[in-house]
Amino acid sequence: PYRAPETSFKHDDLQVTLAAPYQLQRKPDAPDLGFGKYFTDHMLKIQYHKQLGGWQKPEITPFEPLSIHPAAKALHYAIQLFEGLKAYRGVDDKIRLFRPDLNMRRMNLAAERSGLPMFDGDELIKCIKRLIQIDQEWVPHSETSTLYIRPTLIGTEATFGIMAPESALLFVILSPVSAYYKASDDGAVSIYADPSVVRAFPGGVGNRKVGSNYGPTIDATARAAQMGHHQVLWLFGPNHELTEVGAMNIFMVYINEHGEKQLSTPPLNGLILPGVTRQSILELASEWDDLTVKEEVITMDRVIELNNSGRLLEMFGSGTAVVISPISRMGFIDQEIYIPTMKQTRPVFQRIKDTLLAIQYGHIEHPYSHVI
Ligand code: PMP
Repeated sequence: PYRAPETSFKHDDLQVTLAAPYQLQRKPDAPDLGFGKYFTDHMLKIQYHKQLGGWQKPEITPFEPLSIHPAAKALHYAIQLFEGLKAYRGVDDKIRLFRPDLNMRRMNLAAERSGLPMFDGDELIKCIKRLIQIDQEWVPHSETSTLYIRPTLIGTEATFGIMAPESALLFVILSPVSAYYKASDDGAVSIYADPSVVRAFPGGVGNRKVGSNYGPTIDATARAAQMGHHQVLWLFGPNHELTEVGAMNIFMVYINEHGEKQLSTPPLNGLILPGVTRQSILELASEWDDLTVKEEVITMDRVIELNNSGRLLEMFGSGTAVVISPISRMGFIDQEIYIPTMKQTRPVFQRIKDTLLAIQYGHIEHPYSHVI
């Protein structure tokens, strides 16, 4: 449901310049990859110049710094967007992408909102696949590490007017990353909800992956960390509706009024990023007979009431970076809430995580996987 792009670049026009041997980077030793600390040997660049007819030919070049005019709109008005997806090396040594079409859709929705040029997502997927093929040795030979793919689109026109940029740059860089993330010894995270800060608001861009949503979360995240929590739980409104946690969507498992086990997540009401993992969880779990799946508003009062009555079983976050992150503790104003996520014998979060990983690493063939 976004306006179809007027023009697009084409994968068939892709020009490749390979790195010379002296330009090749040393590959880091796993497992200490971190997240976005190392980059591969090549990158993809696609220039857009309205004066020259729009999108130019895609190019793969050796990885290199960008040269950018100090007045570029991206640097002043955050006229930019980004994406995050991964390439997984499967048990059969094939490399797979997970639902890249959904990331392309999200990119075009963000581009539309910020006056950035739109494009044909299938063409970008083909260019990204070629880039990964060239740097394929960078896709970790491991089921705990992956190659993170970061497509980015920035407005490069160097004038101060707050208008749709007449020039832009779409680039894609690749970074081998560990599945590692900060959690407690049991693998669960503790989250902190401060109702005085909001991440998104109605009519805003909480549902778009734009950089301006992320910079302003640093301070709240640092304050949560000082209090011993790993992530911020983003609430909204007088009823303290749960929206997201850190840069993840949030899920809850509880026993509903009919005595059934229910998996719930807040609906896409404009405040929530439409996560690829979120959508996949909803689709996969709705096929499971022993679970009711629902998108519904979840308030802090509801969480506390379910927890006090012993009906709350699990809470977890979902996203490309961590897959599933179980939550065992919440700080909310002056309360500490302990959630029995890690006490379940057959937790839903684990079953979801196992299913997603099995698809991503090719243990099972599934239409979500795109073999490169
Ligand atoms: N919410 C926010 C705010 C995010 O930045 C992300 C990461 N893209 C997610 C949720 C999870 O989305 P996905 O499952 O597509 O990674």
